[in-house]
Amino acid sequence: MDTPLDTPVEYLKGTGPQRAELLKKEFGIYTFWDMLRHFPFRHIDRTKFYKVRDLQPEMPLVQLIVRLKSKEILGEKYTKRLVVQANDDTGVIELVWFQGIKWVEKSLIPGKAYIIFGKPGEFNGKAQMAHPEIEPYSPETLKRKGNATLQPVYSSTEKLKQFSLDSKGIQKLTAHLIDQHLKDIPENLPLYLLNKLKLMGRADAYRHIHFPENAAALQEAQHRLKFEELFIIQLKLLRNKLIRTHKFKGNVFDKVGHYFNEFYEHKLPFPLTGAQKRVLKEIRLDTQRGVQMNRLLQGDVGSGKTIVALMSILFALDNGFQACFMAPTEILANQHYLSIKQLIGEDFINIALLTGSTPKKNRKVIHEQLEDGSLHIIFGTHALIEDAVQFKNLGFVVIDEQHRFGVEQRAKLWRKNIVPPHVLVMTATPIPRTLAMTLYGDLDVSVIDELPAGRKPIETLHFYESQRLRMFGFMKQEIAKGRQVYVVYPLIKESEKLDLKNLEDGIEVMSREFPLPQYRISIVHGKLSAADKDFEMQRFVKGETHIMVATTVIEVGVNVPNASVMIIENAERFGLSQLHQLRGRVGRGAEQSYCILMSSQKLSNDGRIRLDTMVKTNNGFEISEIDLKLRGPGNIEGTQQSGVVDLKLADLAADQQLLLLARTEVEQIFEKDPSLAQPEHQVLQQVFQKGKAGLSWDKIS
Ligand code: ADP
Ligand code: MG
Repeated sequence: MDTPLDTPVEYLKGTGPQRAELLKKEFGIYTFWDMLRHFPFRHIDRTKFYKVRDLQPEMPLVQLIVRLKSKEILGEKYTKRLVVQANDDTGVIELVWFQGIKWVEKSLIPGKAYIIFGKPGEFNGKAQMAHPEIEPYSPETLKRKGNATLQPVYSSTEKLKQFSLDSKGIQKLTAHLIDQHLKDIPENLPLYLLNKLKLMGRADAYRHIHFPENAAALQEAQHRLKFEELFIIQLKLLRNKLIRTHKFKGNVFDKVGHYFNEFYEHKLPFPLTGAQKRVLKEIRLDTQRGVQMNRLLQGDVGSGKTIVALMSILFALDNGFQACFMAPTEILANQHYLSIKQLIGEDFINIALLTGSTPKKNRKVIHEQLEDGSLHIIFGTHALIEDAVQFKNLGFVVIDEQHRFGVEQRAKLWRKNIVPPHVLVMTATPIPRTLAMTLYGDLDVSVIDELPAGRKPIETLHFYESQRLRMFGFMKQEIAKGRQVYVVYPLIKESEKLDLKNLEDGIEVMSREFPLPQYRISIVHGKLSAADKDFEMQRFVKGETHIMVATTVIEVGVNVPNASVMIIENAERFGLSQLHQLRGRVGRGAEQSYCILMSSQKLSNDGRIRLDTMVKTNNGFEISEIDLKLRGPGNIEGTQQSGVVDLKLADLAADQQLLLLARTEVEQIFEKDPSLAQPEHQVLQQVFQKGKAGLSWDKIS
């Protein structure tokens, strides 16, 4: 169903094929509609007129009404310029042009009044303005659009500018669209909602966000369109959830039996925290309802998500189902496999590990055992998703550190049983509530907001390079006490060479400072083969080495309770959630743990805030909020691939209240009218009409 707004942009007056091609390339603008959605990033206040006397060189763009006194072309060749003297009732200003001289000169008539607009300057103590925009003044011009208003400023690019599509050029195209096509912008929110929330109509909002009548109208327009943006995301998410719960049955886990009880009574090495118990109950209730569970488990680093996942899996086994436990890396999958194996002991249940490096022979056996049902839990990486992996009766899927998996990959797991398995997704570190609501808005959320008792808070210190010797001294002191130490170097793709050099230099310095045979060092980085990595890891895990020098491959999940010191080199180069995740590798045993952030003396503003935040708080939820504010949602790990946070106007950090409002309204709508069949909800149907907006597997976690 095409509307006039779906017309290709090359048919827009003032574009043509060449400019259209550029608009596509530079900004992804294909249609009239896309053009309308190329919103200005700010407005210049053209409601105010200045007097020559009041001009200061530090002022931004300003406008004045002046009368031209004289014009002359001065200089030769490179110094050639058009100089115009003009004045108002307070003083004289000189206007200068170095380009387009002929054309401008022709259009200016001394004695006439003009509106000039530009950046004020000073030359030889006189007021001056270079290359002002200029247009003849009459009382009528003031009433026309663009003068006595807020003028939109659009982002452009060098290439677009070469084809006269600078901000001004884009403004012209947009103005034309608004003139001609305002009527083609349909309202997409129910009328009663507009009234209730006092929202501007959609077409009006599009007009005012480009060409606002005044500041208040601009604000109202932005408010309306931001709300719409957030509302529609929530509408899609919650509708998907609704369809899913209606369409897909879930396996019913109505028994608590041998596996769970045996583990709970004889194998669980510690009492569960209140939060862990609560979450287990939530999962238990969820898996009894006959509806497929899709749950996000949020919890701070070290809060004990794994044990909750394991015990949920035991429910599944008690009801005759198999389970899979998926992690983003081999190291992690391996670690989960080993630690759970240790927890449950031999002969209790049958578990196996399947990763890219599992030999073919073993692979075959695993496949067979999964198919005949003799294998209870399979741990692994992406390898689990392959079509060759088939289950007899898959009932429960745990996905750890979820953001590293693509959404489509997750959906594939669904299809491994006729009735899709229950899915528990665990995040590596907490993500802010508003982000969770947007990224995983169609999942139910459980939160573990309590750390196991007896944990000593990790002490975090920030050291500058000049304090390195002190840091070494501290390491030696802790190693003498029998502790182990992590030393982590940044590894950021863009500068892999530099990073590797950093790491190599670091290893050299460490080896000199901590020589054999007194000290032993494990080294793990991305260039090692999986087997070598594993070997080095294991040496550290077993306590054979004192120091683990690594790039961020150890970032997630690794668990060595005796390691009590985390040194992060070039800490200013890490993001907040990464720092927090790394810090979470220590503080897992009974000893007091430390995290030392090493940085250069020179820090950016953001860098300083990040390090200060780390020193100040251990709370992952708090840290995630600050991270969101610093970096914006688009840069939070895991959000890029999802696309859902590709917001044009709303900002998940700044517009939290608006998001909550949108969410509540959508919930209320679905409560009253789940199929959106009521007449007043007809307008909402258009959101789902254009194919991609409807239910698709890849939108479902
Ligand atoms: P994360 O939530 O970061 O994945 P883990 O599940 O790896 O945390 O748990 C961190 C450590 O805490 C593990 O060594 C685990 O055995 C331990 N642990 C989990 N729950 C408890 C508890 N209730 N009491 C004591 N220790 C616990
Ligand atoms: Mg974990």
